[in-house]
Formats: sequence, C-alpha cells, structure tokens
Amino acid sequence: MLQRTESTPSISCVVPAYNEAASLADTLGTMLATLRPLFRRIELIVVDDGSKDDTAAIVERLGATNPEIVLLRLSRNFGKEAALTAGMEAAAGDLLLFVDADGQHPPDMVAPMLQGWRDGADVVYGVRRVREDQSRLHRRMIKTFYRLINWGSPIEIPAGAGDFRLMDRKVVEALKALPERNRFMKGFYAWVGFKSLPLDYEPLPRSQGRTHFGIKGAFRLAMTGMLAFSTAPLRALSVVGFLLALASLAYGAWVIFEYFYYGIAAPGFATIVVAMMFLSGIQLLSVGVLAEYVGRIYDEVKRRPVYLVSERQGQGLAAAPGPV
Ligand code: UDP
Ligand code: MG
Repeated sequence: MLQRTESTPSISCVVPAYNEAASLADTLGTMLATLRPLFRRIELIVVDDGSKDDTAAIVERLGATNPEIVLLRLSRNFGKEAALTAGMEAAAGDLLLFVDADGQHPPDMVAPMLQGWRDGADVVYGVRRVREDQSRLHRRMIKTFYRLINWGSPIEIPAGAGDFRLMDRKVVEALKALPERNRFMKGFYAWVGFKSLPLDYEPLPRSQGRTHFGIKGAFRLAMTGMLAFSTAPLRALSVVGFLLALASLAYGAWVIFEYFYYGIAAPGFATIVVAMMFLSGIQLLSVGVLAEYVGRIYDEVKRRPVYLVSERQGQGLAAAPGPV
C-alpha cells in the first residue's frame, strides 16, 4: 500500500440535489475545476432526489461533455439522508466527499481536507463557523437542536459539523454497514468514530433558491437523532414514574393519618380532580414517548429500502478501474 503522503487517490464526490436547477451547473463546474488538479481519477455523483425541476436535465447536459459526471435518479424525493446513502453506495473512489448542490460548501476547503487525510486523518469534516449575519433566534435554535440530539446520548455529536466531509474508504464501508432505515447521518459519523479532523469553514450564502429544512424539518431531524441515539426519554419516564409513586405513597400516608387523627371522612374533591388530571396527563405523555420508539421500531422491521434508483447515467470510476 502506498503511503498517503505520496499517493494520489481516486475520489467520489457525492452531490445530493433536490430542485437545484438554478445553482447546480455552477456548483458542478467549480467542483470539477477544484477536483481535477488534486486527484488523478474522479467521479462526480449527482443524486437527483426526485426533483421536480430541470435538475436531471442539467446534469445530463453536463455529463455529455464531462465523463466524470454520474447521474443517479431516485424514484421520488427520499430526503437528504437517503440521497447521501444512495450516493455513498454508488461511489467507487478511495475517498468520498459530500458536497451540497447549492454552493454553500466552499470548494477551496477541498485541498486542506485532502492534506488532512494525507496527514493521517480518516475523516476530515467541515465545522460551520457561526456567521454574524445569522439572527440570534437562528443561533439559539441551532444550539437547542444540538442539545436535543445530544440529550442522554453516550456519543457527542459536535455542533456545527455537517455533511461537508472527506472520508476514507474504510469509513465509507463502516457507514454502509449500518442497516438503519431511520438515517441520521450526523449521528452515524459520530458513532463510527475513526480518526477525525475538524476544519473550520465559513458557509457561503445559498446561491439560489432557499433551504429545504425549515423549523419543521429541523425538528423532525432532531427527534430522529435523539430517538435513534439515546434511550434517555425512556429513562426520564421511569424517573418521573418513580417520583410520582413516592409522592403518592407520602400523600396516602397523610390521608390515612388525617382520617384517624382528625376524623375527616370525605373532603378533597379538588385534590382528586387535580391528581387525576395530572396523572392521566403523565400517562398520555408516557404512551406518546413509547409510541415514538414503537413507530421507529415498526419502520425498521418493515425493512423497506432506504431509497430506490430509477435511472443511472454515466459510468464513473467503476468503468475504468486503474492504478490507485
Ligand atoms: N436535499 C436533498 N433532498 C431533500 C432536501 C435537500 O437532496 O429532500 C439536498 C439539497 O439539494 C442540498 C442539500 O441537500 O444540496 C442541502 O439542502 P439545503 O441547502 O436545503 O439545506 P441547508 O444548507 O439549509 O442545511
Ligand atoms: Mg444549503
């Protein structure tokens, strides 16, 4: 095996794209120009995640003149995590790089990332620097998001670390071996471990269009992260149940004492109503939390594929296997 310092590895660059017709041509052009001088053999896998605009047509047009481009069309919109998984499973390179289609990931980070790999890191990941122009509410929300997903999880998911990362083949194989249907990549990266090197970067503004992840999307992802990587919510329920049992034991003792000492027969209508409502509230909440887990178990046991490919164009690295 070649030393990393001397080798020029092959690379698969995976770009998930959902309705990115406006920015895709620019992004792919810059990416090709960035990768060509750095790597000997490259493939640029664009995963069209069920776009309703001209995304696929643009990739096809560029692919006609650039043989490195591979178009992978999913049969519908499966979400970014599934699109990344699809790209990862199609990739044949020694290294794998995830890049967003909207041009937010600065291409000049690729060279330092490659250097990090040459210096021995198996994963080099970009960490978003907090931008001054982000509102305080936005920053607060991001912080809450990471607090939620890290709640009770034994592995810490670093804040600001996203999908913009360069990974060695062995990391890719480890990620591919994870069989989950509920795919939360940020958690997977942390879970598989390997020697990882964070690199700060300033995300560029989205070149066109707007983000696909609103408050609802972020919340859903945070729930998946929390439920998939920790059982803390279940443990919290046990603790609440235990405390309630203690409290009712104490209260029961008080009622008995009251009965014998003061001889009061049937007071406490308010107490009964409040206690009943409180307890049924706690019970419903508990059932809800359990249901979240059961729902996810149901998703997993169905064993449906994470994504479906409807079409593939371009050979990529698989076509011409050559020396590394
Ligand atoms: N994306 C995708 N499928 C989706 C939503 C988004 O493949 O269902 C892609 C999108 O085209 C982009 C990347 O995921 O390349 C990041 O999306 P976006 O820019 O909307 O997210 P943000 O940068 O705001 O986190
Ligand atoms: Mg973006």
